[in-house]
This record gives sequence, C-alpha cells and structure tokens, in this order.
Amino acid sequence: MTRRIGLLGGTFDPVHFGHLRGALEAAECLGLDELRLIPSARPPHRGQPRASAEQRLAMVQLATGGVTGLMVDDRELQRDRPSYTVETLESLRSELGDTVTLFMILGWDAFGGLPAWHRWEGLLGLCNLVVLQRPDYDPELPEVLKDLLAARSVSDPGSVSARYGQIICLTQTPLAISATHIRQLVAERRSPRFLLPDAVLDYIETHGLYLP
Ligand code: ATP
Repeated sequence: MTRRIGLLGGTFDPVHFGHLRGALEAAECLGLDELRLIPSARPPHRGQPRASAEQRLAMVQLATGGVTGLMVDDRELQRDRPSYTVETLESLRSELGDTVTLFMILGWDAFGGLPAWHRWEGLLGLCNLVVLQRPDYDPELPEVLKDLLAARSVSDPGSVSARYGQIICLTQTPLAISATHIRQLVAERRSPRFLLPDAVLDYIETHGLYLP
C-alpha cells in the first residue's frame, strides 16, 4: 500500500474550525497517512493577508499541535515569490517520489476559481483533487470544470487508488465559518470564540491581530 498524503493549502488568516474539521474528515474518509496544512506566502489570487506569514504559520502550528496525522508544511513560506500550487506539488513530488498518492483538498469556492490558477491543467497530473462542500459558498461552476468533474470524479472516496488524476467530492459536516467573518468580528470587538481553537484566539488577542 502506498502512502496517502493529503494537502490543504490556504491563507489561514486565521486558521479556523472550517479548515480543521474539513481536514480531519477528509483524512478519515480517504484513509490518509498524514495531512499537511500548507500556508501560502503571497497568495496570487487575492490581496495581502492581514497577519504576517510568520503569524499565520504560528497560528496553524498552534491549531495542529498534538493532533495525530495533522502536520504543517512551510515550504511556500520559504519561497520569495507568489505561492503557485502547481510548483508546490512539483516540489512535493520530487521530495516524496512518484509512489505516494497525493490528495489536494480544496473548498468549493477555491475549486470554482481553479481555471484562473497558474498552470491549473497540470494539477491533476500531480495529485488527486478533493473538493469539500462549503455551506457559505455555492458558486456556479464554469463549463470547463463541469466537464472535468464528469470525466474525473469518483463516487467512493475510500476506493481511490490512483496516485493522481481523480476528483473526489466530499460531504463533510457543513460549517459556515470563514476567516473573513472572524476578522470582521475581531475588528468589531466581538468574540470569534468557538469558531476557531482557543489557542489561536489567544494568539490573536496577544498579538492584537485584526483590530481596526
Ligand atoms: P477568507 O475568508 O480570508 O477568504 P477562508 O476562510 O476561505 O479565508 P482560506 O485560508 O482561504 O480560508 O481557505 C483555505 C482552503 O480551505 C480553501 O480551499 C477553502 O475553500 C477551504 N475552506 C475554508 N473554509 C472552509 C469551510 N468552512 N468549509 C470547507 N472548506 C473551507
């Protein structure tokens, strides 16, 4: 049996239970050996994050510390240029070899924007895609993605054995939590407690993040 590794990239500004619960449920459903959260340094598709790369990394480390199977991979923070996912996957492939099975996990909103990603058509040549439902987003998919889903999707997540090239749509516990909402709550001096781990909330308060 080859190693099955999940990857969840994101801005994590800040990391929250929508990310963590989705990651955990995907790991269980797909029988993953490990799941890596990969904070992006300079996301190419959006404005600059409010927290620094170091702060976002620290929050992801606090959120995953001591959780079996969840790890943090900081390779995108080592690069001094935009975080292109395809390059991250190439770097992981060259490090881990061709025999591992890679699953890149993304929410519906991110999946809907895939055609704008740098060399996006190369992604399925490097990994499988796992698309998480997201109750707070329901974008209409572009035709090209509908065609891709029709051609590549697999209905039983546990049965996926291809090392790359397939798409799995997962229904996890729906959590309408977003980092944007958490930042707004903090900016309005309201509490985001119970939307994210207490250790992350303590970090936000200690460092005065997201205040107006
Ligand atoms: P922001 O509100 O700042 O845009 P976000 O909450 O969407 O942030 P990201 O760090 O951009 O968080 O998300 C990383 C990945 O996790 C993306 O693929 C996104 O679709 C997915 N994701 C984020 N929140 C959820 C959620 N509540 N349920 C399922 N997937 C999620």
